[in-house]
Amino acid sequence: MIEVRNLVKYYGTHMAVDHLNFTIKKGQIYGFLGPNGAGKSTTMNIMTGYLGATQGQVFINGHDILSEPYKAKKDIGYLPEQPPLYMDMTVLEYLKFVAALKLIDKSIKSAQLDQVISLVRLGPVKNRLIKNLSKGYRQRVGLAGALIGFPEIIILDEPTVGLDPQQIIEIRQLIRGLAKDHTVILSSHILSEVREVCDHIMIIYQGKLVASDTPENLEQKMQGNETIELLVKGSPEQTGSVIRQLPSILSSQIEDSGEAGCTKALLTVKEQNDIREDIFWTFCKNELPLLRLANTRTTLEDIFLELTSSESSRNNDSTKEDPTDESNL
Ligand code: ADP
Ligand code: MG
Repeated sequence: MIEVRNLVKYYGTHMAVDHLNFTIKKGQIYGFLGPNGAGKSTTMNIMTGYLGATQGQVFINGHDILSEPYKAKKDIGYLPEQPPLYMDMTVLEYLKFVAALKLIDKSIKSAQLDQVISLVRLGPVKNRLIKNLSKGYRQRVGLAGALIGFPEIIILDEPTVGLDPQQIIEIRQLIRGLAKDHTVILSSHILSEVREVCDHIMIIYQGKLVASDTPENLEQKMQGNETIELLVKGSPEQTGSVIRQLPSILSSQIEDSGEAGCTKALLTVKEQNDIREDIFWTFCKNELPLLRLANTRTTLEDIFLELTSSESSRNNDSTKEDPTDESNL
């Protein structure tokens, strides 16, 4: 339903988006994950027709965002990083204004405004001036604006930035709720957020797509060898002799556990081998009680760090993110 082909964006001589290619399918929550300055906002601004690309194309349900903007844009609701709100309007006035811009039919306009206001829970503040609202409520007003017309695709740029923890939980719940009837694309530089909310993660780094998969597959693909930690009620010699009976062990390390009569062991196991049951039964047969069995997996955190740090250490160019750069969208 969304196809991004060979997208490139230069700001002056700085390449912010570097030949991006991807397809977004219907009915899922996609997460653009990447550190600040990775090119997420630029990509979203191009996908929604706010910004022209230097090269490449974006198709929304088959319509080119540049040559058929009306047809393409009618299927998209966009919440930019800084929603363009009119501070001197009330919430209701603003949403009516957005509905007018989106050419919402008069006959359904007020019912739809009610629906959006209740969905985003803006009822209690609908007659307040936007300038008097907290950041969390303003974010919801922006989200309500994006939802008017109930477009198929909802694109949200860092929707939880600047919100307090309670507001973050509420916005995430709202996003999950939206995914029942919409395709949602959100961006975030926070891994835990993307992992929690998204069905599919696209890691963007220095304008490139460096990974694209489900959170589970990303974790699995990148998984190296697994480490299993054991705490055994027995001597180091007894523990060592049981470990030698186990399959698929690459290496083992026996350590002092700090507990009298107990031994700690760290096992490195070949990739994709789950031998936890084998460990349990082998120790049982040898009548050696296992007090703890824990495996440490490669986490998405590790993957994210690996993908986004290896190049950055090599590539310290001066075009890197400047925290004082107001031009960062
Ligand atoms: P993200 O949203 O992932 O933080 P952006 O798309 O905002 O990243 O920015 C990507 C890169 O392009 C950054 O290095 C940023 O400083 C630069 N950039 C963004 N907007 C502009 C602009 N209007 N003019 C010049 N450089 C920009
Ligand atoms: Mg951004």
